[in-house]
Amino acid sequence: MLINIQDFIEFLRKTAQQGDQISQVVVPVRSEYADDTHTFFRPLTESNTPLFNSYRTVDPAKFLLYLPREQVFPAEQTKNRILAGVKACDLKALELLDAALLYDQFTDPAYKQWRDSTLIITSDCDDISSSCHCNLVNGQPFAENGYDLNLSQIKNDFLITVGSDRGDKLLDRIKSEIKTRKASESQRMQVEKQRKRIIERLTGQNKPYSRSSHYEKLRTIDPAPWQDESMTCIGCGACTHICPTCYCLILNDESKADQFIKQRSFDSCQYNGYARVAGGATPRPSMTERFRNRYLCKFDYMVHNFEKIGCTGCGRCTQACAGEIDFRQVVHNLQNMAIAVQ
Ligand code: SF4
Ligand code: SF4
Ligand code: SF4
Repeated sequence: MLINIQDFIEFLRKTAQQGDQISQVVVPVRSEYADDTHTFFRPLTESNTPLFNSYRTVDPAKFLLYLPREQVFPAEQTKNRILAGVKACDLKALELLDAALLYDQFTDPAYKQWRDSTLIITSDCDDISSSCHCNLVNGQPFAENGYDLNLSQIKNDFLITVGSDRGDKLLDRIKSEIKTRKASESQRMQVEKQRKRIIERLTGQNKPYSRSSHYEKLRTIDPAPWQDESMTCIGCGACTHICPTCYCLILNDESKADQFIKQRSFDSCQYNGYARVAGGATPRPSMTERFRNRYLCKFDYMVHNFEKIGCTGCGRCTQACAGEIDFRQVVHNLQNMAIAVQ
C-alpha cells in the first residue's frame, strides 16, 4: 500500500487533534539547534515536522514505555498513543524488555500499560550514524516483524506494511480518510535495493570490528585487559541510561499530599552504590568489575535468560560515553583476546 508522505503526516496530526481514539502521536523531529542533525522523539504538533527515515533518535523508544522516573503504584492512567519512526534496533530492544518485564511470573504493570496503549510504527533506516552496528549483532536496518505498521520511503511516498491486527485497523482508518495506492512490483524491488544499500554501508563501516558468535568467551578474560579497556570510564552511568535494553531500577516510597506512592527510577550497574546492601557491602566494588558486568550482562546473562544478545547495536552508549569508549572496539578487542588464548 502506497501513501503520500505529506498526506500521512496530516493524517497523524488530525488523529492527534481529534483525540477520540488516539490522544498523542510521538515522532522523531530534528533538534532545535540548527547545526545539530540528530533527532529526538517529540509529540507531533502543528509546528514540527517528523523525520521518519534517517537513523535512530538520540533518546531510545524505551524512554516512552519504561520511563526514566515513573509512579508505578498506584499506577497512573496511560494515554492511547502512536509512536512512529521507531527503528529496528529499538524494536528489538522492546522484545528484550518484554521478555524481562512481561512474563508469567512477573509483570511490570506500568510498562504493560504503556506497551498495550502504544501503537508502534517502525520505519526503515535510510542513513546510519557513525556508531550504528546492528549488523554485528544479528540485526539489520529495517524491522521484519513485531511492529504494527512499517514505513519504507519511496521518493514522496511510504510503502506501508502491516504487522498486526492493530496495524490493520489503523490502515483501514487511513484508507477511509486519505487516498492510498497499490504498490507495484518495481516499487517493492526499489525498497529491497535501498535496504541492501544501507546494509552495505553498515558492513563497510563496521569492517574493523570483527566478531565471532562465541560471546561467552568474554567471561574467560583476565581482569587486566578489562582494566585497560575501562581506563577512561568515570562510572557516570550514561551508557546504561541511554541503552534501549537496560532496565535496572530502584524503587522509592514517597509521600504526596494525601497518599503514599511508589516511584520507579533508572538505576545503573556502573554506579558505585549499585546493589549495595546494609553495612556497605557491594558485589562489585571496583570500576573495572562494574564495567565488565555491563558487557557480560549484554552478551552472557541476557543470552542465558532470554536467548537473545542484550545489545541491538544502536551505538548510543558509544556516543554518550564521557570516556570516549567505543562499545564495538571493546567487544572486538576482548573477544579476539579470548579466542587467541584458547
Ligand atoms: S543500528 Fe541499525 S537499525 Fe539502528 S539506527 Fe542504526 S542502522 Fe538503523
Ligand atoms: S549496549 Fe550500547 S550499542 Fe548495545 S543496545 Fe545498549 S546502547 Fe545500544
Ligand atoms: S558512559 Fe562511559 S564513562 Fe560513563 S559509565 Fe558508561 S562506559 Fe563509563
